Amino acid sequence: MKIQTIEYVYRKLPLEHAFATAVGGVSNATCLFVRLTTECGLVGYGCGCPTSLTGESAETAAFFSERFAREIAGKSPLRTEMLTSLYGGITYGNPAVKAAFDCACWDIVGKHAGLPLYELMGFDKPKITTSITVGLGPEERMVGEAAFWVKKKFQSLKIKLGADPAANASVVSAIRDKVGKDVALRVDANGAMTVSDALAFAHEVANLDLEFIEQPVTGAAEMAAVAKESPVRIAADETITDLSSFAPVLAAGAMHVATLKLTKVGGITTGRKMADVAQAYAVPCMVGCMSETQVSIAASVHLALAHANIVYADLDTFMFLHSDPSSGLKMKKGTLQPSGEPGLGISVSDTVFAHAKSVSFKRPPSPGR
Ligand SMILES: [Mg+2]
Repeated sequence: MKIQTIEYVYRKLPLEHAFATAVGGVSNATCLFVRLTTECGLVGYGCGCPTSLTGESAETAAFFSERFAREIAGKSPLRTEMLTSLYGGITYGNPAVKAAFDCACWDIVGKHAGLPLYELMGFDKPKITTSITVGLGPEERMVGEAAFWVKKKFQSLKIKLGADPAANASVVSAIRDKVGKDVALRVDANGAMTVSDALAFAHEVANLDLEFIEQPVTGAAEMAAVAKESPVRIAADETITDLSSFAPVLAAGAMHVATLKLTKVGGITTGRKMADVAQAYAVPCMVGCMSETQVSIAASVHLALAHANIVYADLDTFMFLHSDPSSGLKMKKGTLQPSGEPGLGISVSDTVFAHAKSVSFKRPPSPGR
């Protein structure tokens, strides 16, 4: 099987409402869509989200998409391991571009096998509960937003926090009072706290039954200092960057839970390995996301369903898009399930690729007699 055509396009998709975290606001999802077509007519979709958080831009995404496309034209999409090594030889960084290309190949792997990807990869569970995120803002608005999602039957909330330990403890306490004890709560400070404030906050909320505090501080050493003393489990997100630096931060005790984002680690091929590495350290994983479409969210869902060590999901952002050009995921009462179709099980509107760049494989002429 050979990849015949590679199409790629960078699109900015507006969110329904701007979203705030401790490190700034987000009003668009920046998406690199990839569509691969094989000689035998199988089509694979992938999507990555190049942003400053992954060290990428529209320009670098276009540059490396062109490089990758020229390299993989005529190669087999089933050789995901070889292709991942090939991308790594072209650029050390650019994980969102790698993720888009890698997920498109995995989509074809599943379609070639005639199986949903999670079944092909090992099928640990049929569905997974996702948290829905309450953005940073005034306490009253955050409590109202939390109540809104619980009324919509979401069973898990992720609350964005800022730097102030007293304000953080107050809003978490108010939300726990509002939603009751049966809703799972996790919080995420995106590194906004100091070590001493993070520990003060953790002790303040120790009786509120939080699943974990995500990225309270920046830096692996600081995370380890908090994780060692905190009465609440600590999850790492920004501290985790790639496979090669993952084991050292796990060994340093920087986290009790690891947040894996495919667009940050380079796709399913590497994401599976990182979930394995975390398992070796007895650290469970959560799959997280940037602002993403159902294409890349589906890739994360399949990975989570296929891996026993991925026990949490924070895959809500496709619901915040004004209009998602992809579809197929099933969402019911805060749980996510793939469509059941082979591969990622996702459809993508043709309009996405209306202005896509394209690279095609040209067979070398057969030698004359
Ligand atoms: Mg986070």
